[in-house]
Amino acid sequence: MAKDFSKAFYNSRRWRKNAKAFAESKCWICSRCHNRSMTGSGTPRMIVHHKTPLTPENIHNDSIAYGWDNLELLCIDCHNAVHAEGKGGACQFDVDGNPIGRKTFICG
Ligand SMILES: [Zn+2]
Ligand SMILES: [Zn+2]
Repeated sequence: MAKDFSKAFYNSRRWRKNAKAFAESKCWICSRCHNRSMTGSGTPRMIVHHKTPLTPENIHNDSIAYGWDNLELLCIDCHNAVHAEGKGGACQFDVDGNPIGRKTFICG
């Protein structure tokens, strides 16, 4: 169930740069539980979540796709919780655009 329209977006240098800068501005701390999700190697494993989910229609809208007002830095647990609340599957890309886990759903 990968959403092909956003694959290239999440893999783009512009997104990765933007997501990293955003995460750094938040000190890599989850906005909900104020924890960091660390990998075994000690690297923060955080997800930049789109509050307004990306769609094929808005993905070229810079203020939605890249605007920090539309982004939220979450740890994997909180992010899963956000998406479990209802809409869509779990967002499964980290700030590097790498898929997390087996699912390949993205924000939305
Ligand atoms: Zn959290
Ligand atoms: Zn998300």
